[in-house]
Amino acid sequence: MLCIAGFVSAEMALGNRFVFTQTHSESNSMKIHEYQGKEILRQFGVPVPRGYPAFTVQEAVEAAQKLGGSIWVVKAQIHAGGRGKGGGVKLARSLDEVKKLAGEILGMQLVTHQTGPEGQKVRRLLIEEGADIKKEYYVSVVTDRASQKVAMMASSEGGMEIEEVAKTNPEKIIKVFADPSTGITDDQAKQLATGIGVPAASVDKAVDVFKKLYKVYMDTDASLVEINPLILEGDGNIKALDAKFNFDSNALFRHPEIVALRDLDEEDPAELEASKYDLSYISLDGDIGCLVNGAGLAMATMDTIKLFGGTPANFLDVGGGATEEKVTAAFEIMLRNPKVKAILVNIFGGIMRCDIIATGVVAACKAVNLKVPLVVRMKGTNEDQGKKILADSGLPIISADTMADAAKKVVAAVK
Ligand code: GDP
Ligand code: MG
Repeated sequence: MLCIAGFVSAEMALGNRFVFTQTHSESNSMKIHEYQGKEILRQFGVPVPRGYPAFTVQEAVEAAQKLGGSIWVVKAQIHAGGRGKGGGVKLARSLDEVKKLAGEILGMQLVTHQTGPEGQKVRRLLIEEGADIKKEYYVSVVTDRASQKVAMMASSEGGMEIEEVAKTNPEKIIKVFADPSTGITDDQAKQLATGIGVPAASVDKAVDVFKKLYKVYMDTDASLVEINPLILEGDGNIKALDAKFNFDSNALFRHPEIVALRDLDEEDPAELEASKYDLSYISLDGDIGCLVNGAGLAMATMDTIKLFGGTPANFLDVGGGATEEKVTAAFEIMLRNPKVKAILVNIFGGIMRCDIIATGVVAACKAVNLKVPLVVRMKGTNEDQGKKILADSGLPIISADTMADAAKKVVAAVK
């Protein structure tokens, strides 16, 4: 099975294990920072600690001064979880310590299990008042495709990765499925609260938070809202101490206020470049670049490569209206990845004609001065003309007839 970096772990815990689902939920979602997520939660009445974002050490110290008190939390803001374990969440007990920690964390290359070994550079911080944590819980809201409902999951095992809990203590994950036409019921919210062991005196507060989280999820067109940890404080209050949001890209047109929160520094440069050309591109860890038309064929192509012992370097769907310019851009983006050792072009010419693609491929190969082996398989409209264009180009293109043939040839080319 393919492993897409940074996949939605809550979906995995729920059992949405289809490769395609994962790929899609990644490519079709937009992420934001924790401090932005908490601002949204605040607007919806979900209790969160007071805090301010900081882009410099000076701003961090000013934020701590504004907050007052004697204990602060300095939190790295990157679009990945596991920051605590990676050294990106630290407690400070004096303004000097805030200054020191902010200086250490800002600019660091923070490595977590979700960033990959190269880590992610920290450019923003969140400075928060310290919380009096009595107990950490987990709660998330996600769409359950199987039941066509909104799943809310909660666990007494807060602070841990939910996937891990799903593996080792599945009985500790309480799930309710809300019908989107009626919303989450009081009973369901109460079931979650009591199921994770919220003390009786705080159950009403937890119920209120769960209902508000459901509303945030629906009203913002989120595809994931994950609070880990949700905490019980010494005084019995319930607060969101972390906030992870993914938004459905297909609904962003009606949320300009969310689009405005986008942080391009956090996005994969190749994926960002691809989006300018309207190419659906997702970086993967293999060494075979794939250029395909149609998401389904692209997924099938990656599976076939795997079947014959290779690993795809990317998912790339050039779409139905691929022009020469688009194909050239696609080649350039794939080749920017130093791991790519060969490229497989797999085209089905339906509306898209094979001769157009062939012309694009030839032009692109010349434009990028292609140095790695290229295997092309094309079928469909104007197939013969397409093949002739490739053959006449004088380029060392390896042509293949079937998908299996193409996969075998490209895997052999890499080895
Ligand atoms: P993540 O590691 O990226 O998920 O970052 P979190 O925001 O979840 O923080 C990681 C851990 O740091 C939490 O599980 C808490 O145990 C701890 N933490 C975060 N904020 C505070 C705080 O205000 N006070 C205390 N004492 N611990 C905190
Ligand atoms: Mg967390």
